[in-house]
Amino acid sequence: MPDKAWEGDSSNHPFAVLVAEDETVSRRLLERMLQTAGYDVTVARNGHEALALFEERFHPIVLTDWVMPEMDGLELCRAVRARLNEEGYVYLVLLTAKDGKEDIIRGLEAGADDYLTKPFHRAELIARLKTGERILRLERSLKAANERIRLLTITDALTGCYNRKYLDEMLPGEIERAYRYRRPISIILCDLDHFKDLNDGYGHQAGDSVLRQFVGRAKAGLRSRIDWVARYGGEEFLIVLPETPLDAGLAVGERLCGQVAETPMELHGGQGVNVTASFGVTACEPGAGEATPSYEAVLRCADEQLYAAKRAGRARVAGARFEAGR
Ligand code: GH3
Ligand code: MG
Ligand code: MG
Ligand code: MG
Repeated sequence: MPDKAWEGDSSNHPFAVLVAEDETVSRRLLERMLQTAGYDVTVARNGHEALALFEERFHPIVLTDWVMPEMDGLELCRAVRARLNEEGYVYLVLLTAKDGKEDIIRGLEAGADDYLTKPFHRAELIARLKTGERILRLERSLKAANERIRLLTITDALTGCYNRKYLDEMLPGEIERAYRYRRPISIILCDLDHFKDLNDGYGHQAGDSVLRQFVGRAKAGLRSRIDWVARYGGEEFLIVLPETPLDAGLAVGERLCGQVAETPMELHGGQGVNVTASFGVTACEPGAGEATPSYEAVLRCADEQLYAAKRAGRARVAGARFEAGR
């Protein structure tokens, strides 16, 4: 569901630092120094080993010596930069005895963010790593902000369920997946009954509250992370149930229909109001070689069923298997 899908900021955890240094004494010294400074440290004896450790576990900070056997620090910088690193930015620091201008330029061109010459000064090294941390924290907060914005663009502001934009983007893919793997999928089109009368009788705010409560009840009965609810428009919602054949889709519709009708919705001030809704279910149960139908055709079928439920007296469920070409 869109209202809890982003991960919190994990900036309180110590940063994982990967150290690549071929000289045993230096390596141990660095390890101890960084551990004392509170970092979560992993050490490697050359670039190869470091890269293997990096593949196993993402390290946002890599501190590497330049001259090492097998794979040197420049190659390591290039290899780390060449990876996709979806987990985030990697702050790379080169640590070396090479201190000519040309060397520094080569190091930075290989992808290093910073450059420290040996023998290094302990406090300077830590201060430079703090600079890296500031950049990494900034990146994390930007990512979290982006994720919040993304969620806002796919969330219905009134009810907190997915919006029409998300539905239009995601449902065709769900249907396509169902046909590709020949898996069933059910969709339920829900429409609150005589909702206009409710608005007229109790006010628009009461109507809004009922819409929110309807979504709350709908979500409560669904499988989290598999099923989802979107606002199709006004007082109409669509429930998507992947891996669900018609009989199970009808059962979900019946259950929700009962849950809506049996317990009055609560209005401001504790007043209860009886609300019902009608449900049109359609299920795609793909057979061998069957072509993927358009999303509009599947929706049309659900809409026909909804119309049938309305015509038969509302507060009920109607359903049919989707058949292409109908
Ligand atoms: P039926 O049983 O045939 O579905 O009747 P109905 O009154 O529910 O259907 P109709 O389509 O005539 O009216 C839908 C109403 O839903 C009209 C509209 O004002 C109301 N509505 C749509 N969006 C919102 C909303 O966000 N908040 C509120 N409170 N009302 C809404
Ligand atoms: Mg070395
Ligand atoms: Mg309607
Ligand atoms: Mg209605």
